[in-house]
Parts: sequence; C-alpha cells; structure tokens
Amino acid sequence: MGARILIIEDEEKFARFIEMELNYEGYEVTKAFDGRIGLAAAENGEFDLILLDIMLPGLNGMEVLRRLRRTKSVPVIMLTARDSIVDKVSGLDSGADDYITKPFAIEELLARIRTALRKTSPQENAILSIGELELDPGRRTVTVRGTAVDLTKREFDLLEYLMANKGMVLSRDTLLENVWGFDFEGETNVVDVYVRFLRGKIDEVFGIKVISTVRGVGYVIRDGE
Ligand code: CA
Repeated sequence: MGARILIIEDEEKFARFIEMELNYEGYEVTKAFDGRIGLAAAENGEFDLILLDIMLPGLNGMEVLRRLRRTKSVPVIMLTARDSIVDKVSGLDSGADDYITKPFAIEELLARIRTALRKTSPQENAILSIGELELDPGRRTVTVRGTAVDLTKREFDLLEYLMANKGMVLSRDTLLENVWGFDFEGETNVVDVYVRFLRGKIDEVFGIKVISTVRGVGYVIRDGE
C-alpha cells in the first residue's frame, strides 16, 4: 500500500492532475478544495503527507498549518502561488517541512514528496527524553525513572512542547499560541501557573530540575539539567 497523501488545493483541475500523477506513482490520494474541509480531513484522517496550497477559500493555508500543528506532526509541503520569500519563511516558521513554487515540474514535486516521507516517518511519535524524564507522545504518558507522572491534558501539552523544542528559550506568547492555541489578550501568567503545576508534579516529587526560567524572556528545557 502506497503512502497516503492529502491535497488541499482549491484549483480543482490542478488538484486532479496532481492526484492522477500521484496515483500513477502508487500513492493513495484524498482531495479537499477548501481550507476548513482540508483541516478537518487532516485532523481526522491518517495521512503520511499533506500538500497544502496557501491561497485557499475558507481558511488560508498558513492558518490550516498553524492549527494542524497543535495536534499533528505529519509532513506538510506548502504549494506557493508565487516565489514569495515571505510565504516561504512564514511557512517554514509555522512548521511546514518544505515548499514548492507553482508552476512546478511534477518530477520536482515527486522528489520533494519522497524526501519528506523518508525524513519524517520514523520520527513520528518518537519518545522525548531529558535526563530521567521521558514523554511518549503516542501513548501520552510521562515517566521519571520509570515512575508514571499524572498530568492534565494542558500540563502534558506544555511539557511536550517544551521538550520537543529543548534548548530553545520560549516566550510566554509563543507557549500560549502553540499550547493554548489562541491569541491571548491581557494576562499571560497562565503559562507561569502551568509551569508551577509541572514543577509541583515533577521537580518537587522527584528532586530534579526540568524547566528553567529565563528571566524577562520565558522558559526553556535544557538537556542534562
Ligand atoms: Ca489556491
């Protein structure tokens, strides 16, 4: 069975052309002609790769990607209508794995698809570990020295995001946007509150130091602390 690919692209003729070519290569293809429908398909389905147009009705490609990244790490190749540096940078910033500028040769797209599939599939749901702390994104479990730590959904998501970005100092705004997933107006101390919850359940119980505060900036998890 070939890899499953979702195409989110409103130019239907173009989407059908890509589908035909991908079918010929042995891939299984699903199409969505609208951003919202595409996002729902991506969230509810099991795909190995997503081809995502930027200019879309319903929800634009950047927003689809941003929302999708809250729950899924499936590789995404952005299809950009023009050779726009801004689109490329913000696409890669929001978690796209690659981009390709239209019009493109189908061989070029096939090569990018093969690369993206090769690069990411073994990493899916890989266990994250920092010292004695282990987090399993697939099973949604956290352990320290093999002992399970009972976290709420939000605590887990925050810890997962910090661990997945270990070594990077993350601002409260970045954490709010990626873990809480909304543009938070006003108080950002909800992040501090949750960091405190995590420290209470992990650091204080097991006598380790997991999350470091970077004063005036945010939080970071560093290896070996
Ligand atoms: Ca379009």
